[in-house]
Amino acid sequence: MPLVLVVEDEPAIAESLAYALRRDGFTVETADTVESAQRKAPNADLVLLDLMLPDGSGFDVLVAIRRRGLPTPAVIVLSSRDAESDRVAALETGADDYVTKPFSPREVVARVRAVLRRTASERPAHDHVSSMLPLQVEPERRRATVRGRPVELTRVEFDLLACMLDAPGRVFTRAVLIDRLWGDNFAITDRTIDTHVKALRRKLTDAGGEASWIETVRGVGYRVTDQPIAQRDHEPSR
Ligand code: CA
Repeated sequence: MPLVLVVEDEPAIAESLAYALRRDGFTVETADTVESAQRKAPNADLVLLDLMLPDGSGFDVLVAIRRRGLPTPAVIVLSSRDAESDRVAALETGADDYVTKPFSPREVVARVRAVLRRTASERPAHDHVSSMLPLQVEPERRRATVRGRPVELTRVEFDLLACMLDAPGRVFTRAVLIDRLWGDNFAITDRTIDTHVKALRRKLTDAGGEASWIETVRGVGYRVTDQPIAQRDHEPSR
């Protein structure tokens, strides 16, 4: 069951949200300060985030979550302030949705479901550690490392890498990668994939890895491999 972290310092609101979420089958944790929210957020699938907290602003929590460069956890901002500037700031900082107080817990649960449905469809199907040492990805934690060092990737870069690392050595056509990452809902071109692969290679190289780990298979697509070039039939074109 998805884990929802309710960050809210007003006990009555926190309790009513926790109750409604648990009744709907969610696992719930709560936090009533910025400090405890920062600590618990990385384990959550979704964070319901109050903006005015006793030790600071919920925006600080949101910034810290998104600084990791990962799309998870999803974040829905809760605030009594309904100023448009707050709404815009929250969404620009990386919130997935925004609910203005007063709200009904049922409404919030419906939003939670909608956001989780949307973000789940944006993730690869498999959730386990995939690795081609010294390159590792942990899809559940949205974490990628090169020789143990974390690499900050965008959502697309991470999903591309996780998808290909799921079957090291296997060639993925651009069409398959587009389908896995975006489904058939968007007009994504092959060029989009190439651009993301280029950025991904640069980040892996910057982290001490090899650009050749993501091999271009001419006329076909891409694959991840740690086979020395001499043993391969294909010649990396980039
Ligand atoms: Ca508050």
